[in-house]
Amino acid sequence: MSRILRFIASFLVVPGVGSSPVLAAEPDEPAAAAWYRSGADVVAQHASERVDRHRARNVILFVGDGMGVSTVTAARILAGQRAGGNGEDQQLAFETLPFLALSKTYSATQQTPDSAPTATAMVAGIKTRDGAISVDETVNRNERDAAVIARHAVTTILEQAEAHGLSTGIVTTTRVTHATPAVNYAHTANREWESDADLPADASVPDIAAQLVAAQRKYGIEVVLGGGRMQFMPATATDPEYASCQGSRRDGRSLIDEWLAAQSASSYVWNREQFAAIDPQHTRHLLGLFEPSHMQYEADRRASDEPSLAEMTAKAIGILRNNRKGFYLMVEGGRIDHAHHAGNAHRALTDTLALADAVRTAQELTNARDTLIIVTADHSHVFTMGGYTRRGNPILGLVVEPGRARPDLARDGRPYTTLGYMNGSGHADLPADSDPEVRRPINAGRHIAADDDTDSPGFYQEALVPLESETHGGEDVAIYAGGPQAHLFRGTMEQHTIYHVMRRALGF
Ligand SMILES: [Zn+2]
Repeated sequence: MSRILRFIASFLVVPGVGSSPVLAAEPDEPAAAAWYRSGADVVAQHASERVDRHRARNVILFVGDGMGVSTVTAARILAGQRAGGNGEDQQLAFETLPFLALSKTYSATQQTPDSAPTATAMVAGIKTRDGAISVDETVNRNERDAAVIARHAVTTILEQAEAHGLSTGIVTTTRVTHATPAVNYAHTANREWESDADLPADASVPDIAAQLVAAQRKYGIEVVLGGGRMQFMPATATDPEYASCQGSRRDGRSLIDEWLAAQSASSYVWNREQFAAIDPQHTRHLLGLFEPSHMQYEADRRASDEPSLAEMTAKAIGILRNNRKGFYLMVEGGRIDHAHHAGNAHRALTDTLALADAVRTAQELTNARDTLIIVTADHSHVFTMGGYTRRGNPILGLVVEPGRARPDLARDGRPYTTLGYMNGSGHADLPADSDPEVRRPINAGRHIAADDDTDSPGFYQEALVPLESETHGGEDVAIYAGGPQAHLFRGTMEQHTIYHVMRRALGF
């Protein structure tokens, strides 16, 4: 390969993978020369890049829920190893974006936050209290008075985009009423009020699903794709996919029917076949609810049942770009967080790679000259990567040091994994593929053995502090960005600054 081709290749992302290796040495090139050249090539590319100060027509905000820096590092190594390489020199699609900043994720009330105030920060430009969905921090978590909520509601970037005539969309692997998607269109004191069955009896504020339909009547969100059918179906209705599953609504409303009636040219789909049949050019509004609750983890997803995050992203962009004025789209890899809470790195990393694939899809379908792409996390997890593991050692495996054939042993005579958690359910000796939501006895103490299959999707990494559910982490997360005004992301930033960059980029 010529020098120039190699230079170009070093920034290409292999289609369908969402990642590629950075370092491609010539067969006869000494390792030191290849390292040196790869560093010089990156600087040469950066030196020739210009800052794009144009207005952005479109903004796509990707949120890896719980995707801390250690998750990105481990996922990139897993991608490289699945592609047959050592893994460490791999680059995920969003790691090719030119600008990077750190995001301080604390909320108005929490040192380590939950997803409601962090998502509110990103889409509404202020920090707020725990559990709050696009209302300010003065609102009590039990505030159920609609008038109080209305007084303290904060306008979101999605609402502003609609007011300016742009199209908008929300794509997630969680319930579409879950905190991160909900902050775009709902205003409520408590993230748990997703259906009317979750609301206190005397509440005058509508539940989150009802607020989505109200927003649909008021201004019409063009695309909503994810999970969470139960919140939209009356308790008397049976789920179309699972006969044992009923809707959750006590008010008897079918919010799916109401959503369809709210705007013209609206379609509703709940499975892969219906989703595939949607023609983006002739669809103005699309609601897709693919599971009664959250969608499946990518590691468990059956392609015949549910679309992937990348496929949903592609469909959303296809519909949104019918509007020449532009669009705002949020895409959430929402279950990275859930797998981490379970102490299960395999599913967390596989969902991270699904998000990387969705970013790559968006990069291919949009133009970097008019579309600002942002990739970030709402918060981190207490997920760590360590030990003096040799290059190319399986990222989900036991620590093996350079020059050794056997796993390193700790002072208790047991091996240990490269990946682990500071707290969570991994204190218990969980059988592989056991349900992480089932409560376990506390048999604290290390239990791992050399013949454990640490690569299996159902393996639970060890955890130090015995908690039912692993917790979020409080350290900063990364913001990756490319496109118009992406240079405004720099240094260590407060999380709510993300909204202000989007607003300025769109010229609001
Ligand atoms: Zn979480």
